[in-house]
Amino acid sequence: MMPTLFCLIGNREVATIRGMDRRIIYHIDMDAFFASIEVVNNPALKGRPVIVGGSPDKRGVVSTCSYEARAYGVHSAMSLFEAKKRCPHAEFIQGNFELYRSYSSRIMQILLTYSAQLEIVSIDEAYLDVSFLHERTEDPKQYGRILKKEILKSTGLTCSLGIASNKLIAKIASSTAKPNGLYEIPHGHEAAFLATLPIGAIPGIGSKTEKILLNDNLSRISDLQKLDLHELIDRYGTRGYSFYLAAHGIDKRPVDGDYHFPKSIGAETTFEVDQSEFTVLIEALYDLVQKACRRLQKHQTRARGFSLKLRYSDFRTITRSHLLFGHTNDQAIIWNEARDFFTKIYVQETPLRLIGISLEKLADTYWQPTLWEWEQAPE
Ligand SMILES: [Mg+2]
Repeated sequence: MMPTLFCLIGNREVATIRGMDRRIIYHIDMDAFFASIEVVNNPALKGRPVIVGGSPDKRGVVSTCSYEARAYGVHSAMSLFEAKKRCPHAEFIQGNFELYRSYSSRIMQILLTYSAQLEIVSIDEAYLDVSFLHERTEDPKQYGRILKKEILKSTGLTCSLGIASNKLIAKIASSTAKPNGLYEIPHGHEAAFLATLPIGAIPGIGSKTEKILLNDNLSRISDLQKLDLHELIDRYGTRGYSFYLAAHGIDKRPVDGDYHFPKSIGAETTFEVDQSEFTVLIEALYDLVQKACRRLQKHQTRARGFSLKLRYSDFRTITRSHLLFGHTNDQAIIWNEARDFFTKIYVQETPLRLIGISLEKLADTYWQPTLWEWEQAPE
């Protein structure tokens, strides 16, 4: 495996790749999106800690919170119970996803007028390739300021804008600029910019990976930069290759306007012989749940519900939907609910030809591309 990697990219080639990468990429990320929309629609909330996610008396997690709530240590994915403890006087809001979606599409429509090369990453985040500004000799910062102003004027919402020669650096730049900022990392300054940041600033390095790297005394991106490719691959295998690229700010991914977020994720199986044995059916369902959950996790999303499809030996097909308590990608939770629901809807001893599950109501807000998805070294 190692020699292939070295053919693909060596220390000397890095400079060449950099030289080729004269693109101008924007990363646009709305500030506290859901909470900000609530404030725009109810000015009485302005300046108050707002937590979107639901009632703190129920199970569930914080979806988004306003910066006023963040000041109390509340953050996304925290349990609502904990959020209530930290900020008891906050305004807890159920959330209106239809409304958020309509704001999102308005914003994406605006972005499209700035460049047709738009990649929607999630409900409140997108990349734009505006490399054509080179030819127009237009200042990317000035163009970005106009864009930010138009979004604010049209929706009342602020966003943070990162400008760089690739998606990775643009994304890190926008998070550095939060909230309501604009930050440009000029071409050629990528590595120097990264050198100032902790390793956790690299998208895709989660807390687990961070721990591993901290254990190895790598806490800053500058620590990673000091290691050569050979050493990183020796230590971390293919991920070492990704670390190397990220630490040096190299990212060749195009802005992909064709990414379609799946509406549902499903799996089904047709039996060779019609089945009416309950344990066999349950076993088959378990395999399908496992398969679907794996795909759910791969897309880094969560489902709020599922439907089961049963086709009888006479080809009669029924589909029944079930709503989960909240968005989840936890296989154990989904399996428990799917098993109970199947037991409820299946008429005992009726032979089945086919059984299927489709995970639905996916939360695209949770979707974040990870480093490891886009830049895996070839096996
Ligand atoms: Mg955001």
